[in-house]
Amino acid sequence: MFEVRDVTKRFGGLTAVSDASLMVDSGEIVGVIGPNGAGKSTLFSVIAGVLRPDEGVVLDGEKVLTGLRPYRMARAGVARTFQTPRPFGALTVRENMVAAAHTVHRSTADAHAWAAECLERIGLTELAEVAASTLPLGMRKRLEVGRALATKPRLLLLDEVLGGLNPNEIDTMVALIRELRQSGMAICMVEHAMAIIMSLCDRIYVIDHGVVISTGTPQEVSSDQQVIDAYLGG
Ligand code: ADP
Ligand code: MG
Repeated sequence: MFEVRDVTKRFGGLTAVSDASLMVDSGEIVGVIGPNGAGKSTLFSVIAGVLRPDEGVVLDGEKVLTGLRPYRMARAGVARTFQTPRPFGALTVRENMVAAAHTVHRSTADAHAWAAECLERIGLTELAEVAASTLPLGMRKRLEVGRALATKPRLLLLDEVLGGLNPNEIDTMVALIRELRQSGMAICMVEHAMAIIMSLCDRIYVIDHGVVISTGTPQEVSSDQQVIDAYLGG
């Protein structure tokens, strides 16, 4: 069980995340929704060790993860994707995957073998030797997920991986996410596509102005008046 407990993150005078708490269990898909600027990506960055919180802790069971650098966080089993994919553009798709696989495999042979397996899983084997920078958005998003998978996470944080995808690409990505849940991964995803979030997630947290204003099953949060007022609208 991964837990975010009372996390606050400020940027100067702006409180981007305010006393937020959240839990994600193995085999669970948890959705994080809220308006633009609500603090969703910042929260992910804190969980993944990209940003250090001003207050609060990130826990894996009893183990405190807060303050670990991103590569250490990856070794501890936490991986995130970025809203704007960040592949090493000059490297090929395969090289990107191998670099990520090296987080968990020391030997070059093992890293290559694992990268090949992950490439197969995300359906990019045929484009493995192409420069990552030349991939269209849908493929770049898949590579972004693949790079996270290559670190063998127990907690996977997906930041708007469906945005900008066509319906076919969305179906493929959703099927992959379901498969990962089935395998026991803990998944936390930020997404705006409400119909997909509602059908895919086991539980949802709603964030507004950095504050968790509601949490529960999709049905519970979508009938919460405060959520309707702040986010879902009329
Ligand atoms: P969301 O992902 O929910 O759209 P973000 O977490 O990206 O929201 O941003 C939350 C707030 O924090 C916004 O007001 C944003 O402008 C601000 N913010 C995000 N990152 C930084 C940063 N590195 N420096 C200063 N302000 C930031
Ligand atoms: Mg964001």
